[in-house]
Amino acid sequence: MAKRMKIKKQAMQSLIIIGVIIFIVIFGLAFGINKYKEYKYKQTYEYKLIEHGYDLDVAKEFLKYFKEDEEIEKVLSLPRNELILNLAKEKYYIYNNLDRYLAYQEKNKDKELKDIVAIVNVNRDYEFYEHDIDTDTSEGNLLMVNKYYKLNSDFEPSSLVTINSQYAYADNQITEEANDAYVSMWHAAKEADIQLIVNSSYRNYQDQEDVYKSLKQSKGEREADKVAARPGYSEHQSGLAIDVFEIHNQLTGTFQDSPAYAWLKENAYKYGFIERYPQDKEYLTGYSAESWHWRYVGLEAAKVVHDEEITYDEYYAYYIANK
Ligand SMILES: [Zn+2]
Repeated sequence: MAKRMKIKKQAMQSLIIIGVIIFIVIFGLAFGINKYKEYKYKQTYEYKLIEHGYDLDVAKEFLKYFKEDEEIEKVLSLPRNELILNLAKEKYYIYNNLDRYLAYQEKNKDKELKDIVAIVNVNRDYEFYEHDIDTDTSEGNLLMVNKYYKLNSDFEPSSLVTINSQYAYADNQITEEANDAYVSMWHAAKEADIQLIVNSSYRNYQDQEDVYKSLKQSKGEREADKVAARPGYSEHQSGLAIDVFEIHNQLTGTFQDSPAYAWLKENAYKYGFIERYPQDKEYLTGYSAESWHWRYVGLEAAKVVHDEEITYDEYYAYYIANK
């Protein structure tokens, strides 16, 4: 009887020991796994963003908008600033411009982020004529010319044709493709009792230099810059721009009130033309409104510019230069 009790006692002890061992192993494993998980989590950008001072939900949002490692590293290298996230949420936000958005915002705290993105995208954080970029003419119909993007003095569009005298005053030239589009547009406008007429189109570098120089001599550089582009910076040198009026309304001062302008605003994009210098967009285009100046960009781009109600400068920055 005593022997059986002893065996039973020993078995119990063994069981307890085994139990303790199992418990230690499981606990140890769980602890180890936990430690490992913690170690792994500390390697994540979510953790690093939280360590940088952002709340968890903000950190998660950052990860939605900043997908590349390089982009998150950039956020971590900057002082904690939730403005960065709000900038990234803007439709036309461009990662490469982030430093410039922040610098511009610092000096213009009253401006909306939407405007800051647009202004920086079109380079207006730089002075006109002090930040030259060579126009990428390989973009063809989409090329950009403005007070930053410059054409070489020897640039001439290929395939220039003279616009038929039915549609324009004498000696007006544009590219063949722009001409075809303009003729189609002209006939559509005619259906609406509007008779369009082009009074200025392609101008070579020399012509533009003459125009600008004579203005500069008579009015001084400041005034000349307000009304004319410097040579190389005129869209007319691209062969893609037309100054178009209505046969009964050819005054720059009143064209914006004409049915012809209203028709162009509604329909020109269907032929690949866009209004290049719209009302109230001087802060982006660098030009006060020119209701008569239309630019051929092709159907696809014209539709986007029209539908999204953006200037061509904004379009080019986001959809072309940023690609
Ligand atoms: Zn013009």
